[in-house]
Amino acid sequence: MLGDTIAALASGAGEAGVSLIRLSGPEALTVADRVFVRTGGGGLAADGPRRVCHGWLLEKPGGERLDEGLAWYMPGPQSYTGEDVVEISCHGGALASRLALQAVLRGGARLAEPGEFTRRAFLNGRVDLAQAEATIDLVRARTRGAFDAARRRLGGELSRRLAELGRRLLELLAEVEVRADFPEVELDELEPSRVLGDLAACEAELERLLAGAESGRLLREGLKVILVGRPNVGKSSLLNALLGEERAIVSHTPGTTRDAIEESLEVEGVPVVLVDTAGVREGGDALEMAGVARTRAALRRGDLALLVLDAAAGWDEEDVAAAREAQGLPLLVVVNKAELSGWRPGEADLAQVSTVRGVVRVSALLGEGLTELRHAIAAAAGLRRGEQALVGTVRQRDALERAVAAVLRASAAVSQGVSLDLVAVDLREARGAIGEVMGEGAPEAVLDEIFSRFCIGK
Ligand code: GDP
Repeated sequence: MLGDTIAALASGAGEAGVSLIRLSGPEALTVADRVFVRTGGGGLAADGPRRVCHGWLLEKPGGERLDEGLAWYMPGPQSYTGEDVVEISCHGGALASRLALQAVLRGGARLAEPGEFTRRAFLNGRVDLAQAEATIDLVRARTRGAFDAARRRLGGELSRRLAELGRRLLELLAEVEVRADFPEVELDELEPSRVLGDLAACEAELERLLAGAESGRLLREGLKVILVGRPNVGKSSLLNALLGEERAIVSHTPGTTRDAIEESLEVEGVPVVLVDTAGVREGGDALEMAGVARTRAALRRGDLALLVLDAAAGWDEEDVAAAREAQGLPLLVVVNKAELSGWRPGEADLAQVSTVRGVVRVSALLGEGLTELRHAIAAAAGLRRGEQALVGTVRQRDALERAVAAVLRASAAVSQGVSLDLVAVDLREARGAIGEVMGEGAPEAVLDEIFSRFCIGK
């Protein structure tokens, strides 16, 4: 696959001022020159590379003029993919961009697969795999927090720290291996306390990176928060207050909001989907039962539940039953209508619900306590504020956890005076797991899995 020339629409396919067609591969310039006629003659490279050229895109080589535009040529390796790249900017719009892409394909390029530009950038050493993954996170980011985290990873901060870790482990490995493999060579004894110190430092650095992994996951994948509580405690009102707009139906009649209503909002940078479970009650008519079934299904997929209580009504069996609907999800108790009464559930009340992570008093009506509620949601979900969310994907976390385990095994082996070749096995494994994060030796299947999540044109 590497070696041919690919093209795709790099900008969005909808209505827009301009669209951008990207070509990459050894024939990029040739293909572009076949279908883009530069004003004043000569090809795109006539005045040297990286010059913006005005001209006309043709329907096909030698065909009619299709659209006016700009184009520029960036020879490899100083390009996004590391290959020769041409970008053509022409008018935006669904049809305009489709015709422009068609023209370029007729010029001899092949339509790129999803993520193929970035895959080539990885294979050509322009970015490592962690950076390639950050690229897709950046494109997909729905909140500022997710964007910033992806941007930092794309900048190579994770990669730099991992490369440094890999280097330290490799040094240790070399010291251990030379003594294990060539016992006849006269070298100083390895000082266990120094080796243990080095290993502890590596472990601490890995743990620092892993500490931000949960935040990284939250920022990337978002959080599903389920509202539970008996009718009329103010779930819909709370949802609206958090959204800052009237969306769910608010009613004085218990059980009016029957279906689960989903809304998206941002909580401390985390994209959150908030689901109002409506009147989760046994009994009722068929429609209501269907609503109950849907609610239960929604609950099973949640990450966190908010049990909403009515400060004026206090705590009773129905609240306990509502809490059970959360089916063991971590639970935040939200005492609503706080302006009506100073009540909060007592220890004995809370003891009936095993997964309580905190109690927050709010007034959906007055919009009070909402900031505190947002903090509590983020904290209960595992977002660690001020933590660098450098580790983003499950793949990265898995590999780093294996690295920690291997470093710990190596430490144990050193302190027990186990033979050095066994210590070397663990060090190699730790080093290998760290390399995996950056994509060293990644099998095709892993790359396919990662890049297939990209959009075409990235
Ligand atoms: P749900 O059935 O749990 O979704 O409850 P709703 O959001 O429909 O609210 C039920 C009633 O409680 C409505 O009359 C709301 O206006 C009222 N309500 C909601 N939040 C508050 C609050 O913070 N204070 C007071 N006083 N009333 C509230």
